[in-house]
Amino acid sequence: MKNISILGSTGSIGTQTLEVVRNNEDMRVVALSAGSNIDLIEKQILEFEPEVACINGKDKALELKKRLEGASVKTEIVEGMEGLIEVATVESANIVVAAIVGMIGIRPVIHAIEAGKDIAFANKETLVTAGHIIMPLVKKKQVHFLPVDSEHSAIFQCLQGRSEGAVEKILITASGGPFRNYDPEDLKRVTIEDALNHPNWSMGRKITTDSATLVNKGLEVIEAKWLFNVDYDDIEVVVQPQSIIHSMVRFKDGAVIAQLGTPDMKLPIQYALTYPERRYLPGERLDFKKISEIKFEDVRRDVFPALDMAIAAGKAGGTMPTVFNAANEAAVSLFLDNKISFTSIVDAIDKCMKTHIIKENPSLDEVLEVEKEVRTKVLELF
Ligand code: NDP
Repeated sequence: MKNISILGSTGSIGTQTLEVVRNNEDMRVVALSAGSNIDLIEKQILEFEPEVACINGKDKALELKKRLEGASVKTEIVEGMEGLIEVATVESANIVVAAIVGMIGIRPVIHAIEAGKDIAFANKETLVTAGHIIMPLVKKKQVHFLPVDSEHSAIFQCLQGRSEGAVEKILITASGGPFRNYDPEDLKRVTIEDALNHPNWSMGRKITTDSATLVNKGLEVIEAKWLFNVDYDDIEVVVQPQSIIHSMVRFKDGAVIAQLGTPDMKLPIQYALTYPERRYLPGERLDFKKISEIKFEDVRRDVFPALDMAIAAGKAGGTMPTVFNAANEAAVSLFLDNKISFTSIVDAIDKCMKTHIIKENPSLDEVLEVEKEVRTKVLELF
């Protein structure tokens, strides 16, 4: 039996993880967590009867307890950061699905690894900002750290069976987002609805916005550097607008191996949960008779500077990736609250990076301190 704990069970990745669990009789959910979606986590508790469930805030936790009073479930209700850590470290779990959005996931992920849990990893902001702490810990604790992000899962799948030192280049594909053909002037008029209308993938609001600015691709480059231990110069981003190729690896002999499929996050989620086994997954299959061509394009780096800003932040290292990420988290939140324009997101990141003095090899506390400073600075900018 695979005992699974899910951080962020009410989100896009979390709910799709639960669909995978429903289709696999040897998977059991032992812990769940939500931010504020009390209705959905209540339903999830009644269906999966986990040992522990966490919600953000004392009032919500009390309300959730009250709602469950008459029910037969024995789920312990916990709250806040301590609660998230309890979900991440619950003794019976063998694997933790890290599907919270944002840097709030750092502490729970670190605690889960310290407790010896395998990680099915989606929460990229955590690795972008604390990769230098997380990856050595993964090695020390000898846990599996399995990518769920579709591009990184694709790369991970392409790397199976390789010999040591065989990789020449990691080729991360990008859809280019909904504004792939826009000019800078068009970007100034983008609304929240436009930004949330991704051409190929259905995802949470924050990552969908990140896909539109190409911040997401930048975060993915930094994530790939940590996951696959490669230099930034050995990672290339290629636009593949139809999202048929999920990513590729070029090897030293010139061979390129790609992973293709329909845009369905349940594949990488299930592969992370069953690795190294591949199982039946219901759903659409690629029909090559209907695909007349697979297109490739270069990234329009002048229109979407966020990609190069992320790579610069990654190369600079220390606290700079935290500045890139935290400025983006704060600015995206303002954009989604209709307080700033779409183009202000990347402007905010740029301003924060330009004034930051890097701290090398920051501790977790220093990373979180910089996050706080940057969040305040973004609020002051507008
Ligand atoms: P969603 O916004 O759909 O879900 C986020 C989850 O985190 C929800 O369960 C939410 O709870 C919870 N959450 C948010 N804030 C807090 C908080 N302060 N405390 C505790 N819990 C919180 O995000 P996605 O599922 O789209 O993305 C999750 C992560 O996976 C992100 O890092 C994203 O980049 C990554 N990812 C997502 C992909 C996708 O297809 N969606 C693809 C690849 C990576 P609530 O619902 O109650 O607010």
